Amino acid sequence: MLIRRGIAVSPGVAIAPAMLLGIENFRIPQRLISTTAVPGELSRFHAAMEAVRQEIQDNEQLARERLGDQYAAIFSAHLMMARDLHLISEIEGRIQGHQSAEYAASQVLRQYSRRLQDLGGQYLSDRSVDISDLEKRLLRLLLGEQREELSQLTSPIILLANNLTPSETANIDRRFVLGFATEVGGYTSHTAILAGALEIPAVVGVGKFLDDVSGAETVIIDGSQGVIIIDPDDITLVKYRNMEVRFRNHERRLHSQRELPCETQDGVSISVMGNIEFPTEAEPCREKGAAGVGLYRTEFLYLESNREPTEEDHYRAYCQVLKAFPEQPVVIRTLDLGSDKLPSSLRGEYSASVNPALSIRSIRLSLQQLQLFKTQLRAVLRAAVLGDLRIMFPLISTLLEFRQARMVLGDVIDDLEEQGVPFRRDVPVGMMVEVPAAAIMAEEFASEVDFFSLGTNDLIQYTLAVDRADQGVAYLYREGDPSILRLIRMVVNAARKYDIPVCVCGQMSTNPLFLPLLVGLGIRQISVTPHAIPELKELIRKLTIEKAEKIATHAGEIDVARDVESYLRRELKKLCPELFDSDWDKACWSGLGRRHPQCYWLEIIQNRFGQSAYLCAGW
Ligand code: PEP
Ligand code: MG
Repeated sequence: MLIRRGIAVSPGVAIAPAMLLGIENFRIPQRLISTTAVPGELSRFHAAMEAVRQEIQDNEQLARERLGDQYAAIFSAHLMMARDLHLISEIEGRIQGHQSAEYAASQVLRQYSRRLQDLGGQYLSDRSVDISDLEKRLLRLLLGEQREELSQLTSPIILLANNLTPSETANIDRRFVLGFATEVGGYTSHTAILAGALEIPAVVGVGKFLDDVSGAETVIIDGSQGVIIIDPDDITLVKYRNMEVRFRNHERRLHSQRELPCETQDGVSISVMGNIEFPTEAEPCREKGAAGVGLYRTEFLYLESNREPTEEDHYRAYCQVLKAFPEQPVVIRTLDLGSDKLPSSLRGEYSASVNPALSIRSIRLSLQQLQLFKTQLRAVLRAAVLGDLRIMFPLISTLLEFRQARMVLGDVIDDLEEQGVPFRRDVPVGMMVEVPAAAIMAEEFASEVDFFSLGTNDLIQYTLAVDRADQGVAYLYREGDPSILRLIRMVVNAARKYDIPVCVCGQMSTNPLFLPLLVGLGIRQISVTPHAIPELKELIRKLTIEKAEKIATHAGEIDVARDVESYLRRELKKLCPELFDSDWDKACWSGLGRRHPQCYWLEIIQNRFGQSAYLCAGW
């Protein structure tokens, strides 16, 4: 049994056989073969091994001619391994023991590679890379056209991969992919957000683990605790199967309360809306008790298929969402393409930037690709006749940028009018506040926009200079950082002065840990991952505004993120002690801020040695 910890991004428990998407996207099936198939499998292995040797020899020859003997020696070492009789006989032994050629080869080569790594030292670790190279060559030949694609699944699996792009995640078939874990990724990466949207238990940022998995082992994904367990023993399996059932019961209980008013104990109503990425999510989002859609990430229309969406595609998608929410607000965020969300049609033009998160992304891209932008705006304005639709521009950094976007909207209005196409003219126009410059200039913006929505995912990334998708710096990505609290307060104050609404639609509002703080800072609207809506509403019903304001005031006096977050944790524990009672209760909530693997160890330190030890740990 192998237990690995990562970042909990989508709660719940999933148990199924592993499907491994390696760097090369090979799946290595653990196929058992019959006695009669053994000779055929052996000759398949020998033929592939011979072809690998030939391939290496060719490379050796080429390297010798172009670069000299010194470089050719690299391939000589590979060749020696490919001829190693001991290695070959170990693989043959496994095939004779009824394992498929690819499974046997990958098991043996991984064992070799691990043993070398365990010996330590750079030289031996480099040799283990040579063995991985041999494995890749062999598997490429053995699997050939039999490579199994994600789109061809026919039975439930847990997907294990180095990384999944947002578009790969968007195309996951929920019927068969019960959960996933990736080696890289951060809490607010778009892949993580999509996992929440798809309601698939998921753990990201696990670090290197794929080399220890061959595929087809049973895997448990605990998306609430950020744990993956490969080849669980029977006791662990039973524990998690029970947890799976309790998780569902917990969800059912919350679901039954979804029509209760969403008010604090002192009668202040808080609007809890849903973030969606696909129009098909709208109906389930309403069923979770959402008061509307606070953020529709429309760029997924581009990422779902290879074809550029037409005006009619946009229009149909928006109508579908409005149909689920005929009277509640539906905030359509215009395309936030670029950075990690670049459709194939735009890849040639934009993917070469050195730092994509700071490059042509989002509203900047829309303002460069005017036709694409106008197509979307036409559809939005046409759909707006059906309900309470609002338009929101993403990643606004300067006033000029907002005015430019508004001007394009004005042009589209003129076009529609001229063409006699029915549309709504007075659609409220707001902006995401997700660039520190926009937060700092909030007063100036507040006098021109109809509403604000705080995109804390990017606001934190840009304020703290921490890539939101990079698990290597996930420990620095802190919602509780005093600078973030200060920026939120500035935005709320500016919105108050100009009497415009302000919502928080970044993942910070999905985490129960920060809810009392946000309410205390004056936030009365949040838009969250839909699965979290019932639990957040339950928490709101336990709050009073007075208490929330006290929490925000005290948190605002603390100067270190770590201390802000542990203070919030203590306060949440007082409000909802049941959350901290037992393992399974914790498992049911959305990660409670367990954002990076280190948090798990911190919690253990804290539980064992008390708060002071936790503080001493330097987090
Ligand atoms: C954000 O940045 O907080 C946000 C909601 O937008 P996205 O996560 O789509 O970048
Ligand atoms: Mg954003």
